[in-house]
Amino acid sequence: MKRLTRRRFLALGGAAVATGVIVGSSSSLALRRLQVISIANPLEDYPNRDWEKVYRDQYGYDDSFTWVCSPNDTHACRLRAFTRNGIVTRIEQNYDVDRYTDLLGNKATAHWNPRGCEKGLTMHRRVYGPYRLQHPMLRQGWKQWADDGFPELTAENRDKYMFTARGQDTFVRLSWDEVYDYVTRGMIAIAESYSGDEGAQRLEAEGYQPEMIEAMQGAGTRTFKLRGGMGLLGVIGKYGMYRFSNMLALLDGHVRGIDPDEALGGRNWSNYTWHGDQAPGHPFVHGLQTSDCDFNDLRNSRLHIQCGKNLVENKMPENHFFNELMERGGKIVTIAPEYSPPATKSDYWIPVRPGISDTSLFLAVTKIIMDRGLHDEAFVKSFTDFPLLVRTDNLKRLRADEVFAGYKLGLSSDGPSFALHGLKQEQYEQLGDFVVFDQKSDSLKAITRDEVGERMTQAGLDPALEFKEKVKLTDGSEVEVMTLWNMYEVHLKDYDLDTVHEITGAPKELIERLAEDIATIKPVAIHIGEGVNHWFHATLHNRATYLPLMLTGNIGQPGAGCHTWAGNYKAALFQSAPWSGPGFKGWVAEDPLKPNLDPKASGKDVVVKGHAKDEEPAYWDHGDKALIVETPRDGRKNFTGKTHMPTPTKVMWFNNVNIINNAKWAYGLIK
Ligand code: SF4
Repeated sequence: MKRLTRRRFLALGGAAVATGVIVGSSSSLALRRLQVISIANPLEDYPNRDWEKVYRDQYGYDDSFTWVCSPNDTHACRLRAFTRNGIVTRIEQNYDVDRYTDLLGNKATAHWNPRGCEKGLTMHRRVYGPYRLQHPMLRQGWKQWADDGFPELTAENRDKYMFTARGQDTFVRLSWDEVYDYVTRGMIAIAESYSGDEGAQRLEAEGYQPEMIEAMQGAGTRTFKLRGGMGLLGVIGKYGMYRFSNMLALLDGHVRGIDPDEALGGRNWSNYTWHGDQAPGHPFVHGLQTSDCDFNDLRNSRLHIQCGKNLVENKMPENHFFNELMERGGKIVTIAPEYSPPATKSDYWIPVRPGISDTSLFLAVTKIIMDRGLHDEAFVKSFTDFPLLVRTDNLKRLRADEVFAGYKLGLSSDGPSFALHGLKQEQYEQLGDFVVFDQKSDSLKAITRDEVGERMTQAGLDPALEFKEKVKLTDGSEVEVMTLWNMYEVHLKDYDLDTVHEITGAPKELIERLAEDIATIKPVAIHIGEGVNHWFHATLHNRATYLPLMLTGNIGQPGAGCHTWAGNYKAALFQSAPWSGPGFKGWVAEDPLKPNLDPKASGKDVVVKGHAKDEEPAYWDHGDKALIVETPRDGRKNFTGKTHMPTPTKVMWFNNVNIINNAKWAYGLIK
């Protein structure tokens, strides 16, 4: 073979030689037969441009469709797939968020574009990839157990059918019909084994706590655990698990021969809380499950503090809002043990020891704001619980009916609590009204949960932040009370700069600088990462991050607040309403005995009856046990309590979730 050198290439001249770089003897001959064409201006005329088609054709497609990428990450990006010969060849952003319209005609803005990430854009490679499981597979040992008629799982049989060595077993490929049959027979056998007195005895012999067995109420189906992972990202498919769990009442009715109306379904395993998506302290602070903003709100912040969070590498389709925050001149602070990617983009980075030591950092910031009078007094008085009085004898809020004889609850039925928040009279009677020391009248005054902001001013109240005295109760006794403000003053004595520097390792000047910034810049937002939620003292951390914001009026404003953004549900959820019926519940808890088979039925005609019961998987992943302890002093103590009592786990069926990597006690689980 003769190699074509650059010199020879030029000597041959003409564009035609460009078709071959390495030519053998026969092609050299062909080349010599080509005519030399003279082109005056190759920009105006080119002899052969067919080769360009190869490149253009790469993007050719027969058809396209839009779809919503909706994995566990919760971004729900709408993308467009292009097909050729029925195969998806590429996926692109659809740039159509500004055209989304809800039933009321509301539209999003174009600022949402672009959406998507490399994972969504390469989804088709997974679909067509060699590792995609395309057929049902059954563990060989389990199949053998089924084929042998589901004999009792004695220790010997557990070994025989490899229940004790599943990881060493092999899988058998089956057809869908075959596997449905195996699953159905298996479920019947398991429900039969663990139902009634005989089932209870079996479970007791296996070492289950009697409280857990009692919670089954005799139904073997209560050992079935179903979990539609992150189901709100695809309610029909994923939460079909819970619908099935409810339908297991049919199996219970059949196995125990009881009135199906009384029959019990499976247990529905939770998602949000168990994952650690839930910031456990948020309900403690404000009574709502979680505070999350939509990330377009980042653009409104002037001071953005991220704590154990990474908005550079995570939250892919939303982090352009983080860039927009920078473009608009927002200040960025990152609190993290390592010089993380967001730390590199920050105005300053506060290093802290791992293990959410920054809980104390936020308490130091709170102390500085309070001690130096940097707080927004009007906001603190009218929108926070700092002025509420607390009894120092039992550390409970002083209730109005404890100090005012014959006190009548003060909420109006047409006020926001009843009319907007859905408060029920029964709940209100439990909550009661609280008490402040009113500076205007120089006396104790009752305050209702509606009396916040302007409503507090209209009620003529000017609560004191500092008040600590003995008050006389209606029963004649005296107790000391103090404001929460005073209580924090006491509590924060432990969080002076020197101590907090010692706890966190954070430089003192940066802690002070953060306090000054929070007090002088508005709006301020603190975004905490999901990792924070996994710590046992996360509740304290969550409250600590709220304190500086409560003191400076950074709650309830665009660009302000404390948010976790563990999950941001852009997927649709059908809520219940008096005019539409039970909504989502009509899907997961439709009465299996009265299914509505009319495809055009109104939602209101769907009959709901819950046969299943919720359960927290944490008990399963901690040895399938409730928290019941034999104490030296008080004997057997049931910390789990009745309402949350789990049942033994014999069937697990879940989708869209990795139940093992989420387990907190994975090393105890995988054995
Ligand atoms: S961020 Fe990526 S993986 Fe997540 S929904 Fe959007 S495209 Fe899909």
